[in-house]
Order: sequence, then structure tokens, then C-alpha cells
Amino acid sequence: MAIYPIRTFGDPVLRATAADVTDDAESLERLVADMLETMYEAPGVGLAAPQIGISKRIFVADIGEGPFTMVNPEIVDLSGTWTFDEGCLSVPGYYWPIKRPDFAKARGFDIEGNPVEFEGEELMGRVLQHEIDHLHGMLLLERLSRRAKKQALRDIREDSVGSAGHL
Ligand code: ZN
Repeated sequence: MAIYPIRTFGDPVLRATAADVTDDAESLERLVADMLETMYEAPGVGLAAPQIGISKRIFVADIGEGPFTMVNPEIVDLSGTWTFDEGCLSVPGYYWPIKRPDFAKARGFDIEGNPVEFEGEELMGRVLQHEIDHLHGMLLLERLSRRAKKQALRDIREDSVGSAGHL
């Protein structure tokens, strides 16, 4: 197994639309093991393949109930609203209150190609939406209001200038 470096904000792979997964179960098994190790080490509750530079439609997650994987997932149902201080391993150190649907249901496949479905409210619903956004090349910043996004980008820019000063 291997821990991958996590790609961060500004890396073009995070903005690319990921390709459908066509790999066989054996190579996916290895990829999933590496992704889980990388996610737990970070630590995070979800990790999408583009975050480790692999532009493919697969993510892993564990909200404390054990790991799961979705291959070529799609959101098939959303309802309610929930505001949550959301963060992302690719924008480390920031959390923004983001309002999204509370409940989400996603349909996809396991690594062997069997259909799977995951659904849930609150954190589960949030993880499904957040990880599938990554597969569409979308970061959580895109879910902020225009004004909040502007402020967030300013904060990130100022912080990175600040840290460059310490080099
Ligand atoms: Zn993320």
C-alpha cells in the first residue's frame, strides 16, 4: 500500500471532469487500498481519486461506520437542506458553512462491477455530495455564495502569501 500526496487547490486535476472507471477489480482493489490509507492518514472522512491526481470516477469514504467505495457514482435523489461547516483535504485548514440538501442518495458500482447504493442524511448525505462533486471537477468553494467565495479566495490567497514569507 502507498500513501499518495493530496493535490490541493490550484492543481488543474481538481477542476477536470473525471473519466468513467473501466479498470479491472484487481487494479481497483490496489487503488482503493491506497486511497483508504491516504484518507485515514490525512485524516479525512472521504477521498476522491482526483485528489490524488487520478482523474477517474471513484471515491472512498468512512464516516465512522466503516469504509465504503463507489465506482462511477451518480446522485439520484436529494432532499431537505442542512448547513454544515464543510472542509476538504484539498483546501486544507478551511471550513465554511455550506448549505446543501440534507439527504442524498447515490447509485454506482463496487470494484467488481456490482450495483451499489448509499444514502443518508447529515454527514452521510454531505460526503456523497462532496465526493461526487470532486468527480465533476468541483470544489466546495463552488458551493459558496458569490460573496462568500470571493472572501474565501481572498483568505486563501492572503494565507499563502503569508506562508511564503516564512520560506
Ligand atoms: Zn474534498
